Parts: sequence; C-alpha cells; structure tokens
Amino acid sequence: MKQRVFSGARPTGRQHIGNYLGAIRNYVKLQEEYDCIYCIVDIHALTSLEDTDKLQDNIYEMMLDWLAAGLDPQKSILFVQSHVPEVMELHTLLSMVTPLGWLLRVPTFKEKARMQPENVNYGLVGYPVLMTADIVLYKGEVVPVGEDQLPHLELAREITRRFNSIFGYTFPEPQAKLTSFPLVVGLNGTQKMGKTYDNYIELAATPEETLKLVMTAVTDPARQYRSDPGHPEVCNVYNLQNFFNPSHVDKIAAECRSASIGCVDCKKLLAQGVNSELEAFRERRAGFAARSQYVTDVLADGARRAQAIAKETLAEVKEKMGLLPRAI
Ligand code: SF4
Repeated sequence: MKQRVFSGARPTGRQHIGNYLGAIRNYVKLQEEYDCIYCIVDIHALTSLEDTDKLQDNIYEMMLDWLAAGLDPQKSILFVQSHVPEVMELHTLLSMVTPLGWLLRVPTFKEKARMQPENVNYGLVGYPVLMTADIVLYKGEVVPVGEDQLPHLELAREITRRFNSIFGYTFPEPQAKLTSFPLVVGLNGTQKMGKTYDNYIELAATPEETLKLVMTAVTDPARQYRSDPGHPEVCNVYNLQNFFNPSHVDKIAAECRSASIGCVDCKKLLAQGVNSELEAFRERRAGFAARSQYVTDVLADGARRAQAIAKETLAEVKEKMGLLPRAI
C-alpha cells in the first residue's frame, strides 16, 4: 500500500515559473511514489474575497497548467475543494476540539489581520481548522511542505491528536515531507516571484512574451555599462540560468565577471532556455485547452473519487462523536 499524500493550492490562475519550480514539479514527482490527492482550495481563497468573479477562470487555467505539467488524473485525484462539501462539515466538527487560543497565536493570522483590518473574518482565524479538515478528510498521511509551512502542519497535527485522544484513533497524524523548494526571485530582483508583485513569467506565456519579460529583469546593479565586470552571484538573471541553462552557468559566470557577455545577450540566452524547457508543456497545454470539456471532466471525476473517501471518513467521525441516530 502506498502512503497517501495530500496537498492543496489556492486557485491563483495561470501558474508562473516560481510555482512550477517550487511546487508543481514536486507534485508530479510524488505521483510515482505515493497515492496523491491534489486539491484546488477555492474556499480558502474566499478569506480575502478578492476577485471572486475570476474564481472559475482561475481554477480552469490552473488546472490546465497542472495537467500540462504532468499531473495525471490516472495516477492522482485532482479536484476542487468545494466540490466535496463534506470538508465544510468536518471543519465545523473539528472546530469543536480546537482551542481558540491555538488559532489566535498563528503568525499568519496576525499578519493577515494586519493586512486587511477591515475584514478580519472568522475564515481567517479558522483557516488552520479547515486546512486540517482538508488533509484528514482523505486520511492524508504525508503533506509536502516547505520549511515556512511547518508551523501550520504542526497545528494540524495537534488538532488531529486532540481529536484522536478524545474520540479514539480516527485520523493518521499527517507527517511533513520537507521539500527544499528553491527560492525563485521575481523579475524585479527583490521579492519572491509571485502575482502580488507582478514580477513573474507565466508558464503559458508565448516565446515572444517570455523574451519581452526576461528583458525587463533587474540584473547586477553595479553593471552600469557593457564594459563593467559583473557579479553573477547577486544577479537574479544568473539565478534563473541555474534552472533553465544549467550546463551553461559556469561559462556565463566567467563571461559576466570578465565583461565578455552583456546583459542583453545573457537575457536572450535565459529566454531561450525558458522557452525550450517549456515548449512541450505549452504544446500539451494548448491540446488540453482545445478540448474544452476535458478539464471539467477531470475535476468531476476527481470530486467523485474524493467524495467516496470523504463520505466514509465523515460517517466514522459522526459515529465517534455520537451524531448518528440510534438504531431502533
Ligand atoms: S551578464 Fe548575465 S549574470 Fe551578468 S549581470 Fe548581466 S544578466 Fe546578470
């Protein structure tokens, strides 16, 4: 029996190369070793109530990227969180065993409350309970996380332990599968690549769009003129070359230091690397997009398979919590 992996990601629409290098690539690899369940967590996206009119488009575009990157509905369950409403029921039941103090201490809650003081809703504070419900509803045993997400998973483990100790063993305690996600800095050279800072390259961008975006990337600020020697170790274009032109990086570093390559040529090389790495991905994506019903069918099948597991778990939970009517 393979162990079960569960992971959820917010519906952020078209994915960028930071998402790919940081998470999607790893999701694809895990399919070979584990029984994987990957979920687009649309309910979590409602805590900030941003752009809900784009929610369905974002789910569709994100799913196209996941499928084109190699997430395979034959190997993994791929579905949307709200399509299996049992998760909301389990969230309520788990909230009964979760002390409020645990939730109010979560650093991301405090940060979000600071960022949106006009909308400090229950969803923000209850987020770790819903996240726990996401995992344990499917009896997830392994959760791929980066170091920064460990505290969230620890809280999920505490809630699970508490439920098990009150009502008897029901859920496996989810274990972290620590993954060293590379830090992919955005085109502005300062923040992590992401939509918040508009510093990203979409996986689905055309080769021309990719080149145009790469040309805007910030490089070594000390390199004012073509003849100035550069410092690749502080240059984000060089950092990205490591992912997309790994066999050229030593040469690029030497040529940058001796000013024998200019930033424009270096960026052209990077764009070529990105475009050649993503060529097959982009073809597959276009193929899936041309079959308009395909994504809907994959998600419907994923929800059906996920719900079969969810119903069993919820029945067990209700039975243990004394919620099932007594048989006469
Ligand atoms: S040549 Fe390349 S590595 Fe050197 S500063 Fe310019 S973009 Fe960066």
